[in-house]
Amino acid sequence: MRRVHLDHNATTPMRPEVRARLEEVLDGPAANPSSLHASGRLARLLVDEARERTAAALGVHEDEIVFTSGGTESNNLALLGGLPPGTALVTSAVEHSSVLEPARHLERLGAPWRRVPVDASGSVDPAAVLERAREGSPRAGLVSLMAANNEVGTVQPLAEVGELLAALDERPLFHSDAVQALGRLEVPLRSWGVDLASFSAHKLGGPQGVGVLFRRAGVEVRPLLLGGGQEGGLRPGTEDVAAIVAASHAIELAVRDRAAFSSRAAELGRGLWEGLQAAFPEARLLGPPIDASARLPGTLSVLLPHVEGKVLVTRLDLEGLEVSAGSACASGSLEPSHVLIAMGLDEERARAGLRLSIGRETTWTDVAQAVEIVRRTCG
Ligand code: PLP
Repeated sequence: MRRVHLDHNATTPMRPEVRARLEEVLDGPAANPSSLHASGRLARLLVDEARERTAAALGVHEDEIVFTSGGTESNNLALLGGLPPGTALVTSAVEHSSVLEPARHLERLGAPWRRVPVDASGSVDPAAVLERAREGSPRAGLVSLMAANNEVGTVQPLAEVGELLAALDERPLFHSDAVQALGRLEVPLRSWGVDLASFSAHKLGGPQGVGVLFRRAGVEVRPLLLGGGQEGGLRPGTEDVAAIVAASHAIELAVRDRAAFSSRAAELGRGLWEGLQAAFPEARLLGPPIDASARLPGTLSVLLPHVEGKVLVTRLDLEGLEVSAGSACASGSLEPSHVLIAMGLDEERARAGLRLSIGRETTWTDVAQAVEIVRRTCG
């Protein structure tokens, strides 16, 4: 049985070009980039070159790139290391757990945490972000707003928020978790006005366990780990040279292919939704309308009649269709999705959401097969 993977927001297969690059580096000499001998210098060169390529793809300076172990670490570093002492934190209510948990931790340590609500489509109102950012004392020191939601695909109005924040007398730092956006949306870091942004290689055809934190020049961030001076002292520890090189290649390719990929993903996503709708006229699409510009291309969150998302995921898996209930990270628990709750769904419905996400390898045959499997399983 050919399995259909429609869970690309959880992870994507590594691109063959990226795998080839990874293997090439692994086949080279084993060396620590901090070693002074020839092999060490070669490893250093590879990391430096990866940094330059990543910076060029993101349109920023190479000194603004910090390699990390993934989106989770980048978000932790941005929040725990970036929030200026004695200030308040502002986030949306629908952030990934790798933003919400550090926020909760900071709150326990005494930093006020102001949450911005979302509307029924999962979007924040920029004016509401501004309001929270200027609220009372202590002043807001950092605003964190994701570029695109991993569960429902809502794209947040980052440029508008950035502009409003820039007009403040004491502007807070602005961070974006752009893990789901890179390779699918334009990521104009300068015009968003962000100081910090998080990325993860495995969401865009790169290896798992490697990510990037963009840190605008001059922005102060405290390291979470203490040790050597790697990554400007911000992320000590011997670099995973092969993974970093492969990640930079994946980022370059994802940015290069973005426009073609996102229009194809949007078309496949629309086809998938139309197929599901035809099979289940009472099915409901969560988040922005299917063709809205505020929807991440190829991400669908749907409510099907009378089924709990988690149970359905298991049944679909047995039939050869890989999807997820809410976010992958939350899917091990019975908790309803905090994103769907924030969008106004009741607990029962917030447990019923099914996420289907399209990737580079997805074909029209996959879409037709997925619709057929869902129809057979739920019909
Ligand atoms: N942020 C978002 C929006 C995500 O979707 C994910 C992954 O699910 C992460 C952060 C965490 O990234 P990583 O898996 O690289 O730790």
